[in-house]
Amino acid sequence: MICQIHTHWGTVIVMIFLGWFLGVGLFCDDSQAAEDCDTDRPNIVILYSDDHAEHAISAYGSSINRTPAIDQLARDGMRFSHSFVANSICGPARATLLTGLHSHANGMTANNTPFRDELPTFAKALQRAGYQTAMIGKWHIPTKPNGFDHWAIKRGGYYNSGFETPSGRVTSEGHVTDVITKQSLEWIDEARQQKSPFLIWISHSAVHRTWAPAERHLARYAEQDIPEPTSLFDDYAGRNPGASTAQMRVSRDLFPAYDLKLPVTGNGILDKAAANQLSQMTASQRARWDAAYKPRNQAWASSELSGEEQTRWNYQRYIKNYLRCVDGIDESVAQVRDFLAERGLDKNTVFIYSSDQGFFLGDHGWYDKRWMYEESLKTPLIIHWPGVTEGESVADQLVQNIDIAPTLLEIAGLEPKEAMHGRSLVPILKEQQSLRWREAVYYHYQMEEPTGRTSHLVAKHYGVRTARYKLIYFYEHDFWELYDLQEDPGEMSNRYSDMASTDLVKQLKRQLADLRVQYDDRSGKSL
Ligand code: CA
Repeated sequence: MICQIHTHWGTVIVMIFLGWFLGVGLFCDDSQAAEDCDTDRPNIVILYSDDHAEHAISAYGSSINRTPAIDQLARDGMRFSHSFVANSICGPARATLLTGLHSHANGMTANNTPFRDELPTFAKALQRAGYQTAMIGKWHIPTKPNGFDHWAIKRGGYYNSGFETPSGRVTSEGHVTDVITKQSLEWIDEARQQKSPFLIWISHSAVHRTWAPAERHLARYAEQDIPEPTSLFDDYAGRNPGASTAQMRVSRDLFPAYDLKLPVTGNGILDKAAANQLSQMTASQRARWDAAYKPRNQAWASSELSGEEQTRWNYQRYIKNYLRCVDGIDESVAQVRDFLAERGLDKNTVFIYSSDQGFFLGDHGWYDKRWMYEESLKTPLIIHWPGVTEGESVADQLVQNIDIAPTLLEIAGLEPKEAMHGRSLVPILKEQQSLRWREAVYYHYQMEEPTGRTSHLVAKHYGVRTARYKLIYFYEHDFWELYDLQEDPGEMSNRYSDMASTDLVKQLKRQLADLRVQYDDRSGKSL
């Protein structure tokens, strides 16, 4: 870098020195053995939750709960304020995380479609480059984990769940969040004995339905009312026809035993599932569970609520259990970070917190996800890379879960795969100045569900979201929605048919068409 060297070897030496000096790992070929690559590659922990909405995280401004450990992570690292998913549903989100591809390209457009297991993934690339790799928890992809030295797939409910592993099924007593954390720490403890770095995907199944809290959290929030969202009684005026027919309403579609922890009285599939979950508890777990719910269920039965009052009761029961499960996730973040610090691993471990997608917390009268509305489109993303991310930094670029795989590759010193749709977030993490970033994200939800009470029946749609606007095309209904997120962050007023929106609609439709070409998405009805 100081002298002029024109020979090939001289250039190589200068590049190595530059790389070391700038703290920028030179790219390793992912076919190289670990010992041939640099030895300072960071460990990576991805702590991933399920259905954890940003608006249930205090670092993101939650008005209903506190998440001290996740907040601390945000204070230590970088919080992404505009983090989105490509398709707001469990299996597809995981397939996108692995491949860096939108759903139509990785096969998993829905929970029940095949995954293209032959595709490059961050797990395969890091494993090949000498990383020790593990995935523990919720998998939700039809193929077995590929690219992981160790894996354990959760097969069961919240209490005393079974896990499928390469060497057979194991069952661990306890609440699933605690069990996944414990198994993960045991694996890290072994991995840290080796010279090569590790990557672990801690894939929690909380806070997914059925929102069954740990014993120690059962009494939380019991004596308080959680504030209701302003759109709890949304009338769906101006929205696509599928909004009012979707089956995800807090008022109507939460199942009494399965979701609301009321006594099992029916014989439907979800009543049986609820009974089965209770039967899997130990006697002492069941006793604490009953002590928490029975008196309140009796009070509910004698109150004979109806109409809006019943909806309000449903909301309180639902959101309190949801937040109790969030508390378990927050404690897991604290446990893993404490564990890393106690063993001196915190200085060389990148820690990522994210969720597979957001969730409706009574917003628009709903629970669940799937829609391109903000509550479900957004997903938390916080990254702490010691020595790289500045504390308390907030990135406002439009990032998406397609970006995680290329980011992990670059963190590990590997070249991002050109075929991936996403883009490495490393330049953002390094706060590189004058960085040109994408101006819009593309979204496509297209899950087919059988008709029936247990389906959500959300209309298929795709759309574009810019920093300020969102245009959604509900192609089954040939219906458009346009929102000005600056003026109307709650997306309560569809401006698509306003005369004043004509030019804006044209521009957004062009952007949407360009994105469908860019990502080569030919699925769904054409524009
Ligand atoms: Ca999910």
